Amino acid sequence: MLSSDELKRLKSELSITVVARRLGLQVARGRFRCFFSERHAHGDRTPSVSINEEKGYFKCFVCEDVKGDVISLVQMNLGTTFPEAIKWLCGDAPSIKRDMQGIRRFTAGYSKKKEQEATEQPKFFKEKILFDFLKLLSPIPLNSRAAWWLANRRIYKAVWDKVLLRLLDDYHRVSRELLKLHSVETLQEAGLFNSQGILRYGKHPLIIPYIDEQRRPFTFQARALDKSIAPKELNFGAPIPFPYNKAALDGEPGIIYLCEGAIDALTLLTYGFNAVGIPGANIFKPEWVEMFKNKKIILCLDNDEPGRAGEKRISALFQQAGFETYSFGVLPEGADINSWYRDKSTQNHAK
Ligand SMILES: [Zn+2]
Repeated sequence: MLSSDELKRLKSELSITVVARRLGLQVARGRFRCFFSERHAHGDRTPSVSINEEKGYFKCFVCEDVKGDVISLVQMNLGTTFPEAIKWLCGDAPSIKRDMQGIRRFTAGYSKKKEQEATEQPKFFKEKILFDFLKLLSPIPLNSRAAWWLANRRIYKAVWDKVLLRLLDDYHRVSRELLKLHSVETLQEAGLFNSQGILRYGKHPLIIPYIDEQRRPFTFQARALDKSIAPKELNFGAPIPFPYNKAALDGEPGIIYLCEGAIDALTLLTYGFNAVGIPGANIFKPEWVEMFKNKKIILCLDNDEPGRAGEKRISALFQQAGFETYSFGVLPEGADINSWYRDKSTQNHAK
């Protein structure tokens, strides 16, 4: 049995919003549709259940019995018992997970299969921490170093606002605030803090979140603004679930440019082209192919050895699935989208 302290800890490590979304609830502006839509006018078209993220509870304005904490939310949604709901949530809370002994005692009697299902659940605690981290960052201030860095790559405010680029400008404040919310161990386990217990990304302050079409963050890349820093990018340890700028893959007929890296994709967006980025020439997951349905796919990876090899592999993957791809084919040897645009505009200026 989990003690009441352990229960408290479990709840404090989970975001009720993240859990609600994991359960498939459409959360918008802190609200979702009631489980008992039939009790509501118009099937609860205007959602009646509100979430209090800070306090970790939810409540329906109409139904007295629809309220509770993150555990009741799982229970109601999946129709499970209290221990099953805990088990479902446990895989994600690092401190509780460490105490697997307690969990095994607590869930003794549940079948092996259920246990397997529970351990296969994705890790919400990482998302909760990602949420907390991004909330502490600021939008890119105009005239900041980051703004100049972006402008130099032909990426301007309208685009960086749209894709929620963020700046880790007050490193010490963000680090302090995170430590108020989570233990060092939790932050380390999530990959935000290094093994010395220090917030990473101090030298990589430009934070590029991977958001989906509903602007939910799943992971991010952190980019150095200083040329002397290597590597120039750091990843948050969460798996990359889709190409960068997934919103462009809307299933509607149209052209999509597939390029290497988020920055190249953003440059193309600035020029009005629909583009997505892959994290590296050799990082394209076969399960992403279907996301490109109805699109005319133009591959514009870097024109270097890895880029060309990547294009070959990616176009073969598309071909196997019956998708045709085209090569952009105008980048000079060694160029990428970004350098190409920069050269082009200096030439124009020279004219
Ligand atoms: Zn209701």
